[in-house]
Amino acid sequence: MTPKKKISKLIKKPLTQKKGIMKDMEPKPQEKLVALPKGNLKEVRLVRGMKDIMPEDEKYWRHIYRTAESLADTAYFERIETPIMEYTPIFSRAVGENTDIVEKEMFSFTDRGGDDVTLRPEGTAGVVRAYVEHGMINRPQPVKLWYFGPFFRYDRPQSGRQRQFYQFGCEVIGDSHPVIDAQMIAMASEFFKRLGLPVTLQVNSIGDKESRVAYGRALMDFLKPHRHKIDKELLEHYKKTPLRLLDVKDEELQLILDNAPQIVDYLTPQANQHFVKVLEHLDELDVSYQLNSKIVRGLDYYSHTTFEVMPDGADKKLHALGGGGRYDKLVELFGGREDIGACGFALGIERIITLMKEMNLPVPERKPPEVFLAQLGDKARQKAIKILHELQRAGFHVAETFSKEALKSQMEIANRLHVTFTLIIGQKEMIDDTVLIRDMENGIQEVVDSRKIVAELRKRIGGTNGEHH
Ligand code: AMP
Repeated sequence: MTPKKKISKLIKKPLTQKKGIMKDMEPKPQEKLVALPKGNLKEVRLVRGMKDIMPEDEKYWRHIYRTAESLADTAYFERIETPIMEYTPIFSRAVGENTDIVEKEMFSFTDRGGDDVTLRPEGTAGVVRAYVEHGMINRPQPVKLWYFGPFFRYDRPQSGRQRQFYQFGCEVIGDSHPVIDAQMIAMASEFFKRLGLPVTLQVNSIGDKESRVAYGRALMDFLKPHRHKIDKELLEHYKKTPLRLLDVKDEELQLILDNAPQIVDYLTPQANQHFVKVLEHLDELDVSYQLNSKIVRGLDYYSHTTFEVMPDGADKKLHALGGGGRYDKLVELFGGREDIGACGFALGIERIITLMKEMNLPVPERKPPEVFLAQLGDKARQKAIKILHELQRAGFHVAETFSKEALKSQMEIANRLHVTFTLIIGQKEMIDDTVLIRDMENGIQEVVDSRKIVAELRKRIGGTNGEHH
């Protein structure tokens, strides 16, 4: 057993002098109130690799979020949102020093107080940190958690790779049973079914440490006769973690590795038994999958089951939509109890949206507002504002352009928005304390007592209480 370490012990203080940093970061006096120079648009742009999520795409985000939420809710997962920033060692220790993420892709910096912090490149490390820090071990196990939020990797921006991207993730912590692995794979599969995206789940086992050591040796032996064809630095770099070679994006190396021995043949009896059980459960759950011995996931914390979600018809250019697996040693690494089994997955939202668009998959459209409020004159405007709040409180979706004076231009906007009803408050209606309700489909108008407007709309909009989204 490795000695338990407190999280605080993992965090080394950087050598940089605090004062020096603070001084550097203080705004210089002349900068304080100076606006950007006029006409200089260079600074008025996105940070490289970041993207705005524009209203045009909102329907996708809304639909995917709701699908994720309902999937997690119905499986009785609880939402957790950890901060987007953690002390750097949380990631460097969990993900592993010798990984692409830690070596090349972390958004790390020293904050004003001199602490080394990193914008989270993935979700599991933060969730496990929270599990340990909040003593979630004392809750009924396993703890089932889900999250949905932004992640950051300082990667070269290209198609399918942004520096800020979103993930939906689920984690089950506190259980080592193989049925959990199968359930997590089934859950990821179900998510794509609900979105209507055809995917294939590629599944593998990287076993326990003993299995990996045995396989690492076999892999290096296999590569020996091919050494002259492989980049020396690459071999040197992955000397201690040969499994990761299976993940390296190098076509020639991958061709050689196509004939390499497979890790499943090197699993210890216990690791093999675990994997067989996972596959049996998957069959019982009627989840289709492919075995792929190259799915090793480039992170240190995985053991046993690993899996990735590939879009169907995937040629080599298409990226994985998500991935996950078992990570039985992470809780212990963060100073928690030994051998707290855990398993999870994370799915990339932007890649999912790209694919949904390419495939023209239907997503629920945001419906037009039910009501438009038009008014004529200052007094009517004041009354309209009151009615607006009353309608909104009652749950109706209401549009208006109160700054416009002319009724004609207000009606034009109502038409353009395809609203169901327009309410008109003119001078006559002000005197009578009424509202004119116009059915926009057939143009029929009726006068309604303004105190009964909510009831009248409820009647006409079919008792939905305005909840139409
Ligand atoms: P990973 O843990 O690296 O396999 O990431 C899980 C999923 O997150 C991937 O399958 C992608 O869908 C998504 N993802 C990872 N990195 C990026 C990125 N730089 N830009 C967009 N999506 C990403």
